[in-house]
Amino acid sequence: APGHPGAAGAPGAPGAPGAPGAPGAPGMPGSVGQAVGAVAAIVRRVVGRMAKQERQVLGLTVGVPGLVGTDGTVLVAPNLGWRGADLAGDLAKALRDPGFPVQVDNDANLAALAEHRFGAQAGTADLVYLTGEIGVGAGVILDGRLRRGGRGYGGEIGHIQLDPLGPECRCGRTGCLEAVAGIGAVLRHAPLSPAEVEIELEEVVRLARAGDPGTLSLLAGVGRQLGKGVAIVANLLNPEVVILGGYYVPLAPWLLPAVEEETRGRTIAPDGGGCRVVASTLGHDAAALGGAARVLDSVDSGRLPRLS
Ligand code: BGC
Ligand code: ZN
Repeated sequence: APGHPGAAGAPGAPGAPGAPGAPGAPGMPGSVGQAVGAVAAIVRRVVGRMAKQERQVLGLTVGVPGLVGTDGTVLVAPNLGWRGADLAGDLAKALRDPGFPVQVDNDANLAALAEHRFGAQAGTADLVYLTGEIGVGAGVILDGRLRRGGRGYGGEIGHIQLDPLGPECRCGRTGCLEAVAGIGAVLRHAPLSPAEVEIELEEVVRLARAGDPGTLSLLAGVGRQLGKGVAIVANLLNPEVVILGGYYVPLAPWLLPAVEEETRGRTIAPDGGGCRVVASTLGHDAAALGGAARVLDSVDSGRLPRLS
């Protein structure tokens, strides 16, 4: 984290090194066991490297693209096919160090924390971050505090059903916001590895820049669906700003006009209740930065020991 060389944040979201492809299924995310093994290997390497420099790791945050309970267990991560995983416990076992400070959190929550602290909208009291990763999720900050809900399962905007007759979602339902406005709705092939997503996305951006009519209408359509989601957020929470993150960032020039129009048209308060919609300046690093911020918070609040 900026100014804190001792902190480590490791995102487990798609695109992070924690989830290698399962054998025989190129591009598919790995099992919990594979992810734990990969993250443990990274931690050992970083701890070793830091020790040589006489520095220490303060702690580890793992960001997960799924529902993380207040007890730290993963209820379900729809796009990884994970259910009921005790990542923190499994990691402690893999590291053979029950005292190693591991925190697990939802990727969108971590990204929202990072935006609130380090992003261009830092300090905004009421903001909502929307992940544009393989899935769509929300990190909700109200009155300057991250709101997780009673059991930690709040912010699941990606699984709000927009169209009961819509396409299947990885959560097992149909027509979820994620299924109609996630990155999968923009790309031709699914599921893809993060590297393949990047390549396809570059092609979409190239075609949009060249003014390709099919691509422009595809992006406007996805923008309108996304705008329905943003309007739900604006009607319910009246945030000052909604930040679009991840893969939405390079697509923002084409998504934003439709998102804004749809938001204004669907909120009962005039002009979307004053809610601005912007692209993240932290990109795919947001969740990792938020992970580091959580470790620093734990140290500041005395939940983790300060290093000498
Ligand atoms: C998950 C969310 C997650 C989002 C982005 C959704 O499918 O349900 O928990 O934040 O994807 O990764
Ligand atoms: Zn769903």
